[in-house]
Amino acid sequence: MKDEKKEEKEKTPAESAATVTPPPNFIREIIEGDLKEGKNEGRVHTRFPPEPNGYLHIGHAKSICLNFGLAAEYGGLYNLRFDDTNPSKEDVEYVDSIMEDVRWLGFDWEDRLFYASDYFEKLYEYAVQLIKKSKAYVCDLSADEIREYRGTLTQPGQNSPYRERSVEENLDMFERMRQGEFPDGSRTLRAKVDMASPNLNMRDPVMYRILRASHHRTGDKWCVYATYDWAHGQSDSIEGITHSICTLEFEDHRPLYDWFIDQLGIFHSQQIEFARLNLSYTIMSKRKLLGLVQEGHVGGWDDPRMPTISGLRRRGYTPESIRDFCERIGVAKRESTVDIALLEHCLREDLNKRAPRVMVVLRPLRLVIDNYPEDQVEELDAVNNPEDSSMGTRKVPFSRVLYIEKDDFREDPPKKWFRLAPGREVRLKHAYYVTCTDVVKDEKTGEVVELHCAYDPESRGGWTKDDRKVRGTLHWVSAAHSFPVEARLYDHLFTKEDPDDVKEGMDFKSNLNPRSLETLASCQAEPSLKDAEPGSRFQFMRQGYFCVDTVDSTPDALVFNRTATLRDTWAKIEKALQESEK
Ligand code: ATP
Ligand code: MG
Repeated sequence: MKDEKKEEKEKTPAESAATVTPPPNFIREIIEGDLKEGKNEGRVHTRFPPEPNGYLHIGHAKSICLNFGLAAEYGGLYNLRFDDTNPSKEDVEYVDSIMEDVRWLGFDWEDRLFYASDYFEKLYEYAVQLIKKSKAYVCDLSADEIREYRGTLTQPGQNSPYRERSVEENLDMFERMRQGEFPDGSRTLRAKVDMASPNLNMRDPVMYRILRASHHRTGDKWCVYATYDWAHGQSDSIEGITHSICTLEFEDHRPLYDWFIDQLGIFHSQQIEFARLNLSYTIMSKRKLLGLVQEGHVGGWDDPRMPTISGLRRRGYTPESIRDFCERIGVAKRESTVDIALLEHCLREDLNKRAPRVMVVLRPLRLVIDNYPEDQVEELDAVNNPEDSSMGTRKVPFSRVLYIEKDDFREDPPKKWFRLAPGREVRLKHAYYVTCTDVVKDEKTGEVVELHCAYDPESRGGWTKDDRKVRGTLHWVSAAHSFPVEARLYDHLFTKEDPDDVKEGMDFKSNLNPRSLETLASCQAEPSLKDAEPGSRFQFMRQGYFCVDTVDSTPDALVFNRTATLRDTWAKIEKALQESEK
């Protein structure tokens, strides 16, 4: 059957940003103020500057939606720029995955793809300018010595003994650093700012280090590499970025970035900081995520349990639901942790409307309808999505032997059990009423292996003439027509809301959830799913949203990832809040 219904004419994120009135936030206020004053000739130009040292995660999605969404909203432009100044940790694999993920999220940077490495020559020239102004010097202190000289938050630093080198000597030494005359780590170029500044970032920060490492774009051309602090602000300036939006940890770096720009007298981008996204039961540090991948705690960066964009995509998340989530969480100046239930809620809202509903039995139990003719097969009509009649109907075969969920039968049912039990009647979705007449057990184990039922031929479609009420409606498949599939059920990757909350001497990995993946290898699916495409999404009735895995699934052996259960804890939280406010 066909997968999700395609919207008749899908809006690009830019188009929807332009038509929907967004809630105010402090960044929008700044931009609107700038526009009113006619700053930057009314231009709005933003960028997303990832370092290609890992895959993007949901936190980056927030930054992308913010940077690109705002530019689109104000009719501006946005750049994708790789901040590739640290060759030892970077890789083209990451560059490629980042581009794929940004595109998948729905953003098109057109011809505005840049690399900080494109500016290495320009940055070198800028550094020479600072040396000529006596605002930078070559320092022979080792990394450890630089740290010692830096001082602390309460104590001022000491000037480096190399601070007063002449301009000529500095120019000569810097050139020789570039030519490869000195060993790695033996010298640095430092900005000459203020070793007594209360802001440690201003205490003569390092601008260049000597490092013989091949760069994924410039190869072995360079053996001196700019630090992030030196490259970042100038890259923004070169690209004419008007609003350089970044996370709070860069607030203390802003005075340094401003200092560089002022010394060079170049275009001044305005940096605006916001609080990064933290999500419960999730870690967001690329270093830690890399650790999980390298140590085999997950199957890879795109493991469906990972908070990476590629993991979420493989799990079955839609770009729409992630953009909706990013809009709803808004931006703030103070760090907080967002409940992962909100992300799942956004997903359910989206898939509820779009994913067709089908029947798959995850843990099959045979059910034989003794009074149903042996060779009879009926093709019953089933609605694809009650939320959207335009998604039509399909035929589902019904016959004498079915599978239902093991969990839907109890020999000894508790109170308020509305599903099947000896002597009880239930409705089979789209089909008939059945009453359980007998139970077959394994002689050795006592496990229930088969049920016998009688059906009411008058109840076709799930209703009776006498309007007899049953409380339970079960999903099922016809044993002769269904086919086996694998389902992978996921739980949070960590058992704690804050995975970094650990006992002394332990690390976040001690909070990994040993039950984050459950594989059910012998589920039974209705025949309409036979040619489900990789990546297509469905609601398995009563079991949750599922997506055909894009990596391990084959046409002969379909694998489904459970994207989310149907239980919407966020909706419950919201409802409780509303009621408490009444
Ligand atoms: P990590 O801490 O995961 O390694 P990072 O900040 O080092 O992330 P970058 O590649 O430098 O990774 O990030 C690119 C952009 O994404 C930066 O502007 C950064 O501020 C932003 N960003 C990173 N993590 C988050 C987050 N959790 N929430 C919002 N924005 C984020
Ligand atoms: Mg960073």
